[in-house]
Amino acid sequence: MPITPLYGHDSLRARLVSAHGRGALPPSLLLHGPRGVGKQRLALWLGQMLLCSADGDRPCGTCQHCRYALDLAHPDIRWFFPRPRLVNPDPRTEEVLDDFVDAIGVRRKSHGLYTAPGGTEALYVATIRAILQLASLTPAMGRRKIFVIGDAERMVAQEGADQAANAFLKMLEEPQADTQIILTSSEPGSLLPTIRSRAIAVRVQPLTESAARDFLRDPVVKTALDDQDVPPSLERRIELMAGAPGTLVGSVDRAQASEVAREFLQAVSQGRAEWSRAVAKMSVAKARGLFADVLDALTVQMHERLREAAGRSDARRAAAIAHVMEVIEDAKLRVDGNVSPQLLGASIARELNKWSVL
Ligand SMILES: [Zn+2]
Repeated sequence: MPITPLYGHDSLRARLVSAHGRGALPPSLLLHGPRGVGKQRLALWLGQMLLCSADGDRPCGTCQHCRYALDLAHPDIRWFFPRPRLVNPDPRTEEVLDDFVDAIGVRRKSHGLYTAPGGTEALYVATIRAILQLASLTPAMGRRKIFVIGDAERMVAQEGADQAANAFLKMLEEPQADTQIILTSSEPGSLLPTIRSRAIAVRVQPLTESAARDFLRDPVVKTALDDQDVPPSLERRIELMAGAPGTLVGSVDRAQASEVAREFLQAVSQGRAEWSRAVAKMSVAKARGLFADVLDALTVQMHERLREAAGRSDARRAAAIAHVMEVIEDAKLRVDGNVSPQLLGASIARELNKWSVL
């Protein structure tokens, strides 16, 4: 069963087709825009368009390349995105690729509708090494190979991995003639500057209302959303979606995580007495598998404060918020380990107070 078709983005698609026709498509692209707006789906569509063998309008949707692409099975479209850290601290490329076969299998099963990665999922250096290794091979079926790297801001710098990082930057800067790289990010400001400067940024806009309607009327989408207890009315769904289809998928969990994060910040701002209660809630979130999402929601809410501070040119406050965000990022990396969520919550609360961020 193929993945859900790409809806909307008509003018951007036309621009990409035209750039490709003129031989002017930059080999390293960064698709950025709101979370859930369909950037990775658009990147997969672009890969399909580049490989389609039809003579007329591409992608045709029916040639062998198109069919493989729509089944997430084209050997020349390599899709990477944040994943939990593997048990083996230094996994071989085969292990990394096996993990992606499983992960893509899950995304195929859900027709390409999936939730945003959790707080501890990242593009670790083993993934970068796997990408580099695949990039050195010739295309298997088509004339070129396409790398789609979703949520690229989750690429983590790791100690002792300078060689892989540098090789990746070189690949972005001067890809081989048969290689197209498409990064996506909903937080381009969090991308490593060395990466951001090497890819041409293309903004992906929210869907128009009519494209949103078409998406929501797709029978596969409709069934998936009905299964997830998303409110049934089409108008309500359009409103909730706000032009970003991905926000509807898994929106219930995210709304809860966002609520826990908001309560946490409020409790910390009310002084020490309220802390313990808020911090205790973190372990409840962990038990329900929400903790990583809560940390993500904290990042989002800190980002908002950071933007406000930057807007007021309050450099001191911006630096304080940035510091707290680092502590939250650090907590995200430790959330899979044995560190208790209370401990991580308490350390975030301490930093919030120390830097008077709230
Ligand atoms: Zn085709």
